[in-house]
Amino acid sequence: MEKVIDYEVTGIKCDAKGCGYRDRSFNFDVKQLDAHIDLKCPDCEAPLMTKEDIDSMKIMIGISDVMNAAGVDGIAKALNVPISELNGPLFNVEVDMDGSGKMDLKEPQQIKEG
Ligand SMILES: [Zn+2]
Repeated sequence: MEKVIDYEVTGIKCDAKGCGYRDRSFNFDVKQLDAHIDLKCPDCEAPLMTKEDIDSMKIMIGISDVMNAAGVDGIAKALNVPISELNGPLFNVEVDMDGSGKMDLKEPQQIKEG
């Protein structure tokens, strides 16, 4: 079944003032998100992930998983719209977090024509 929302949980950065640590290639294990709470910055040893950020990630992943389980057909039925209305362009949205649990959604970038 075609995914409604595809996600990757990648990239980590240090939010400590003055520390510029960033690793864009870091891959989170989405099945064991809590294991990332104890990660320390390799440069300054500040915590890299907070429980608040991990809890927000779990919510976003949960919403994505529910939408994928429903599929495009299920969502069209739930919204009572023809499926053709849901076959639009594809967008990539980057989400930035700062340790507060708040998610900063960046400007969507279109990656495929509808
Ligand atoms: Zn740091």
